[in-house]
Amino acid sequence: MDNDHFDYFTWFNSEATEEEKALSIKAGTFEPYFKDMVFDEGSASHNLIMAKSYTNENPELEDEELDYMIPEELQYFNPQCIKYKIEERDDCNGYYSHQDKTLCVVPSCMNSDSTLLHELIHAYEHVLNEQPMYFHDSLYWVLYQKLKKCIPDLDEIITEHAYVLTGSTLYIEGGVHDILFLLKSFDLDIQCGYSLGTVFGYGRTDDFAGYTYDKEKY
Ligand SMILES: [Zn+2]
Repeated sequence: MDNDHFDYFTWFNSEATEEEKALSIKAGTFEPYFKDMVFDEGSASHNLIMAKSYTNENPELEDEELDYMIPEELQYFNPQCIKYKIEERDDCNGYYSHQDKTLCVVPSCMNSDSTLLHELIHAYEHVLNEQPMYFHDSLYWVLYQKLKKCIPDLDEIITEHAYVLTGSTLYIEGGVHDILFLLKSFDLDIQCGYSLGTVFGYGRTDDFAGYTYDKEKY
C-alpha cells in the first residue's frame, strides 16, 4: 500500500488541478462515514466480526491478535488511495474505475457531496469484494440490522431492488449497484440527513418518496 500512497502524493503535487485537489481533500473528510466498510475499530461491522464467542473458544486470542485477521487491503484503504478527476461525461454524473484507481465526477457535480459519496461507495466496495466473501456478508448483515430499525419498509425496498429488471436497468445505465450498495447509500442518506435515494442517485429519490426513516432510531 506504500506505492498507493506514493502515487497519491505524486499525483496530488504534480498532476491534479486545483479543483481535483479540492475534491480529494473533501473525500478525505468523508473517511469517517466509511469506517464500517473497512471494519475499522469501533464500527458496527468491526464489533460484529470480533464476536466474543470466538474469543471465548480461543481465550488466548486477544482483540489485537484478531485485528490481524482483517485483510491489510481493508485496514489501509482510505480516500487517499485513489486519484480524483473532474471530466465532462455525457452518460453519468461520475464513475469509479478500480483498474485506474480513479474516481471521476462531471464538472456540474464537482460540489455535490452526494455524487462524491456515491462514487466512494463504489471505491470501497471494490476493495471489499476482493476479500473473502464473509466480509461482504458481515457488512451487509450489520447495515441491514441497523437500517431495519429506522426504515419500517426496508424489506419492501430491498425486494424491489432485487428484481432483475431493476438490476439490469441500473447495470446498463451505470454498472453494478447491488443490495449492499443500496444499504450503504441509505446509511449515508440518514447520516447526512438526506431523503432516501439521494446518495443512490438515478432518480431514486422519486422512487423512494413514499418511504421515510426515523433518524432517532439510527
Ligand atoms: Zn454508481
